Amino acid sequence: VRDAKTTTIANLIAGEDRAPRAGKYLEVFEPATGGVHAKAPASDAGDVDEAVAAAKRAFPAWSKTSAAERSRLLMRLADLIDAKAPELAKAESVDQGKPVWLAAEMDIPRAAANFRFFAGAVLHQEERATSMDGRALNYVTRRPAGVAGLISPWNLPLYLLTWKVAPALACGNTVVAKPSELTPLTASLLGGLAREAGLPPGVLNIVHGYGADAGRALVEHQDVPLVSFTGGTKTGEDVIKSSASRFKRLSLELGGKNANVIFADADVEAAVRTTVRSSFLNQGEICLCGSRILVERSLYDQFVNKLTDEARRLKVGDPAEKDSFLGALVSKAHLEKVQAMVDRAKQERGRIRTGGERVKLPGRCAEGWFYAPTVITDLAPSCEAMQEEIFGPVVTVTPFEGEEHAVELANGVRYGLSASVWTRDLARAHRVAAGLDVGQVWVNTWMLRDLRVPFGGTKASGIGREGGEHSLDFYSTVKNTCIHLGD
Ligand code: NAD
Repeated sequence: VRDAKTTTIANLIAGEDRAPRAGKYLEVFEPATGGVHAKAPASDAGDVDEAVAAAKRAFPAWSKTSAAERSRLLMRLADLIDAKAPELAKAESVDQGKPVWLAAEMDIPRAAANFRFFAGAVLHQEERATSMDGRALNYVTRRPAGVAGLISPWNLPLYLLTWKVAPALACGNTVVAKPSELTPLTASLLGGLAREAGLPPGVLNIVHGYGADAGRALVEHQDVPLVSFTGGTKTGEDVIKSSASRFKRLSLELGGKNANVIFADADVEAAVRTTVRSSFLNQGEICLCGSRILVERSLYDQFVNKLTDEARRLKVGDPAEKDSFLGALVSKAHLEKVQAMVDRAKQERGRIRTGGERVKLPGRCAEGWFYAPTVITDLAPSCEAMQEEIFGPVVTVTPFEGEEHAVELANGVRYGLSASVWTRDLARAHRVAAGLDVGQVWVNTWMLRDLRVPFGGTKASGIGREGGEHSLDFYSTVKNTCIHLGD
């Protein structure tokens, strides 16, 4: 429902738009202007209960629907996302603060691709059978797990929500999703498209609200056997604790403090170009951003100068404008967190090569939450800015001497999500990749994603893998049956 100024978002429960039972709403801000542009339900455990009940009622029929039919409906949903792509991109940009061109190039196409990929994947699944020397035959079957609880963050709202919804539905589960309270808009549009695509009522339910209320109620719910969560490491810890007594299947994709390891023999132009993207794309608010740049000593000065020059040239601007490379940070609180971490880096004798401050824009964006691309050097590896996720347009650059030192620095954090290695020496690329304790390594590239490959982190970056067959395994219950054939 739209009035002159704000949109009122509803929950999607049992195929219907529903207002929160207690009538409470939260304000949704447009980061570029600092103004409120929508209201979303501040749902509580009662709303979650209704949504889970609807998903539970829809489960028997949906789980028995043929893979071909589920696939057909999800393909149709992907087509509808494509058809509505400009509107979805605009909504994502208004809600999140990212440039509209980026939402149009990355977030929305990926949402459609997620549905197409898993709609295809379930048509091509094969299972294993093993014979025990003719004495017995084992075969594997799978069935959907039930009601899947899916919790997603604000940085790539539709992209990450659909990364969970698509495989969950394709495998025959029904879903209750809880999008980030900061960015509910595209999730609510997705709900409308799912209805238009013909998904039966209750198959996809979307409940909006705060994590501590709606999120926690979903994680704790006794009729939700499986939870896929993407978000911060501290929240991941809470999810483990609040689900522990019910022994739920969990997939946790958490924070990162990823290293870009750049050797002196790299293609320097390509390394700088890509490092600019891996540092500042989406305002640095991507879990895969390379926020710790490690450069071999002999290349260090040259690299720092080039990166700093490029960072200075990037336009921070109104996300609606095509030439803005960075839009606004997602919230005032997040902007303050980023600023506080940069201030502490200064106190720890970090040298700010560029940035380190808010950007004030004229006109409609005068009250927006913009921050300058920031490059910091001269910090010790133990400093907070080199150990903890900042999740903004802020990177540190540190010199290293040789492979062993590079790997030691790269692994010297509690996170283990991803890393990039830049070298022209193939054997070195393999050696360094093997030594990195992370879930994914890119060599001479960054964030090149194949939906078939496993995705996830080590250490405080999470538990479990999604992607391709890993998602199909996670979203189904796999069973082995052993038939005794005779001795
Ligand atoms: P967050 O942890 O604050 O919130 C994520 C989601 O969890 C939101 O929907 C929130 O409402 C909900 N939530 C909060 N408390 C909860 C609770 N107690 N129980 C259940 N749900 C709860 O994270 P964020 O600030 O929205 O996102 C940024 C973080 O996400 C960063 O740390 C980033 O690295 C991480 N992230 C990781 C990946 C990955 O794939 N590893 C991808 C994107 C973002």
